[in-house]
Amino acid sequence: MLGQMQSQPLLISSLIVHAERHHASGEIVSRRVEGDIHRTAWGQIALRSRQVAHALDGLGLAFGDRVATLAWNGYRHLELYFGVSGTGRVLHTLNPRLHPEQLAWIVNHAEDSAVCFDMTFLPLVQAVAAKCPTVKHWIALCDADKLPADSGIPGLQSYETWMGDCPTDYPWPEFDENSASSMCYTSGTTGNPKAALYSHRSTILHAFSAALPDSLNLSARDSVLPVVPMFHVNAWGLPYSAAATGCKLVFPGPAMDGKSIYELLESEKVTMAAGVPTVWQMLLGHLQQNKLRFSTLKRTVIGGSACPPAMIHAFNETYGVTVLHAWGMTEMSPLGTVCTLKNPQLALSPEEQTKVLLKQGRAVYGVDMKIVDESGKELPWDGKSYGDLLVRGPWIIASYFKGEGGDPLRYDEQGKGWFPTGDVATIDADGFMQITDRSKDVIKSGGEWISSIDVENIAMAHPAVAMAACVGMKHPKWDERPIVVVVKKPGAEVTREELLAFYEGKIAKWQIPDDVVFVDAIPLGATGKMQKMHLRQQLKDYVLPTA
Ligand code: AMP
Repeated sequence: MLGQMQSQPLLISSLIVHAERHHASGEIVSRRVEGDIHRTAWGQIALRSRQVAHALDGLGLAFGDRVATLAWNGYRHLELYFGVSGTGRVLHTLNPRLHPEQLAWIVNHAEDSAVCFDMTFLPLVQAVAAKCPTVKHWIALCDADKLPADSGIPGLQSYETWMGDCPTDYPWPEFDENSASSMCYTSGTTGNPKAALYSHRSTILHAFSAALPDSLNLSARDSVLPVVPMFHVNAWGLPYSAAATGCKLVFPGPAMDGKSIYELLESEKVTMAAGVPTVWQMLLGHLQQNKLRFSTLKRTVIGGSACPPAMIHAFNETYGVTVLHAWGMTEMSPLGTVCTLKNPQLALSPEEQTKVLLKQGRAVYGVDMKIVDESGKELPWDGKSYGDLLVRGPWIIASYFKGEGGDPLRYDEQGKGWFPTGDVATIDADGFMQITDRSKDVIKSGGEWISSIDVENIAMAHPAVAMAACVGMKHPKWDERPIVVVVKKPGAEVTREELLAFYEGKIAKWQIPDDVVFVDAIPLGATGKMQKMHLRQQLKDYVLPTA
């Protein structure tokens, strides 16, 4: 017997329809490329996303065609999120921090038909346009009077001219909820980048789960600042969850320095902000140097890489801001776990609670996870056993775009497919998952694992250290030994010996790095993540003192 409830496909257009009908006056504030602050509301975003839909039809693009963006977080990008996907085309968010060659490769692989870009990226577009034969339309996200006369880009139009005169009514089409809605290429530490292709269904289900109280806890009373770029896993799905809940969105545009972010947090009464640890490092530095406080910020989602204890401590203890340590992947839309306490943890001492909050957290509804050993056998949830972390769920990748890399899943005895995350983790009896390392980046010394995250966290707790990366170096006896590569804070001093002594008593003696290498900068990926492969290349002539 079938249930007798209404059947409606889960489509992204339903989010903007809801936002317009129920939250039309909900504010959308953006710092623009020009530096000014732009104000609009969900009602206007809905109206203009319908104009975008008309304008896309005018280009003659087919259902499923890819429309790329090269853009900061801002209101026009938000309109494209709904306008492109709402019509059944696929929004392809390009990462503007990539090398032009990589970018051209990705545009060609995705076979993008159109590219909408912020004027900041005009030089990048000029460098790649001739190498992207599939792109028939280049649209600059600016007013008509900001368009340069001699850009060298054939047929370049301003966004406002392109969509501005289109009708404001548009009947959003109904189609299969499993249709592709957006795509994102992963940074990829090896080989060519691969794309995760999200569907309408996966995106809507993710939006529901992300908004739950023990996830990001979003409501119409929130003012949310996504520092996480809209070109990285759809800004962790925040634009969709925000439309569903009607919260205010505050977009930082290109200004991601501590001072600019702090100004927006205060002026727009932001209650929740989301980003990677490196961004918060800059923000905390700005607060400390200028003896500032937050007046409205209640919580901050930190993910993308492990949140150092010193950062959790600073937010929680010094500034009274709750840190939501979250973990996920491009292949997971991205949300997998968020760290919020349950009743048993509330009864723990503050020190014990902090230990729990350092973990990546509990699986949100919709995500199942397990840890397995090398033979694929599931390991116990005892907080000690560690193994490869596998996940499954309706917003987790089944295969990469164009089938690149073959079938990525591992199958259990019942034939259920699990996605191997490449992360190594423990899970405790209460379901709190903790990443101990990445399988591609793990340090194995004499047959024993050393967590590069632990080694980095300790270095980061030293007052003179701005950034630390732990990498494994070949060792004749132990196979690998860890070293820690350190960037000092401006004007601060610490010697190799002092830093190594700082490790004493904090981890097992054999886990203490063999050396400290001071550098001016650690190579960072587009999303602020440390690029250890590049770092290892930089250190190719390095010889361990113990080798
Ligand atoms: P990406 O697909 O670029 O978002 O990268 C996903 C990877 O980033 C994960 O597989 C983890 O290795 C890492 N990652 C994401 N969030 C965290 C976190 N909270 N702690 C540690 N590693 C993380």
